[in-house]
Amino acid sequence: MTERIIPIADAHYNAGTPLVPASPVLATGKLADARARTLRDLRISVTDRCNFRCSYCMPPAVFDRNFQFLPHSSLLTFEEIERMARVFATHGVEKIRITGGEPLLRRNIEALIGMLAQVRTVHDRPVEITLTTNATLLARKAGALAAAGLRRVTVSLDALDDAVFRAMNGADFPVADVLAGIDAAATAGLRSIKVNMVVKRGVNDHEIVPMARHFRGSGHIVRFIEFMDVGASNGWRLDDVVPSTEVIARIDEQFPLEPVAAQYPGEVARRWRYADGSGEIGVISSVSQPFCSSCNRARLSTEGKLFTCLFATAGHDLRALLRGGYSDEQISGAISTLWSQRSDRYSEIRSEATSGLRRIEMSYIGG
Ligand code: SAM
Ligand code: SF4
Ligand code: SF4
Repeated sequence: MTERIIPIADAHYNAGTPLVPASPVLATGKLADARARTLRDLRISVTDRCNFRCSYCMPPAVFDRNFQFLPHSSLLTFEEIERMARVFATHGVEKIRITGGEPLLRRNIEALIGMLAQVRTVHDRPVEITLTTNATLLARKAGALAAAGLRRVTVSLDALDDAVFRAMNGADFPVADVLAGIDAAATAGLRSIKVNMVVKRGVNDHEIVPMARHFRGSGHIVRFIEFMDVGASNGWRLDDVVPSTEVIARIDEQFPLEPVAAQYPGEVARRWRYADGSGEIGVISSVSQPFCSSCNRARLSTEGKLFTCLFATAGHDLRALLRGGYSDEQISGAISTLWSQRSDRYSEIRSEATSGLRRIEMSYIGG
């Protein structure tokens, strides 16, 4: 897939076809890629740092005390992020997810939420703002985030068993504090809270049913995520993946389930509901049932690189345009060029050969 990626610096400065068109482009909505997938979601990583060391994301042996995180000057400022969000919204983006690293570590993140809450879609509706967090700071911040305009939150929690969770997060952080964060989010008025659980065979798969049982009837939706081969450091092996069909079978045995239709095209999680009406769960099957054909997500890294796939090996430097005096229309043109050239479908073509590629880490690109 390396040849499909055109770093913006190459394309703009070195190659024949300039990425920034000579005449400004005024975006008016839907932007389709080379596989007719329209841009809808934007994920923005606001920091590459994290206070956890989840083995599947930032293994402690790699992200140790000598690891070089980005200097603050490299990060997009809140004003730059807001500007990018406005430009992306003109291309049909309706939903923005703030992520990282751990996004609540970014100082005054609620101010950014407040700025993004003002961004409007091409249909003149507010862009939906959501955030994914490990919840370590959620109990403290939920009220301020909600007041700033955050409406939804996704919390990551890989086990209810305290010892299993403490080991998986690599920071000895207790389950009780994550649950307190979830409660605080609900009290602050954040709706349809989702709980992400990455399932790794032999590590936490025995926690699938307890997690389902705990959150059944709570109104919160647990999403069971297949362990993915993101980045180049998590030692991924296919044998460690628990396919979503197995997850569903294990829960269904205890609490009968029935499928639910997707709410919108490109929905990542396949939805299931408890037959007794006690709520819903989701499965994200990036490995066993790839959903590239409807993938409508763009990712903006912590330092302003645009990635058109989670498994990309390189990004396109939009920060160079932001800081290089280009107009919104010119940046809009660059985004249009990049998205229209996009043909990524990594999960569909995953193989021995592709799993050896040197990919970007998820903590940097944004999960
Ligand atoms: N730190 C925040 C958190 O953990 O919620 C946000 C960033 S994290 C990279 C976003 C999501 O990616 C989390 O739900 C995490 O569990 C998931 N994730 C990270 N590495 C993964 C992997 N190798 N496979 C599947 N999901 C992964
Ligand atoms: Fe941090 Fe989230 Fe990655 Fe865990 S999954 S190491 S909490 S960024
Ligand atoms: Fe989208 Fe890439 Fe994931 Fe496929 S592999 S669903 S194109 S991010």
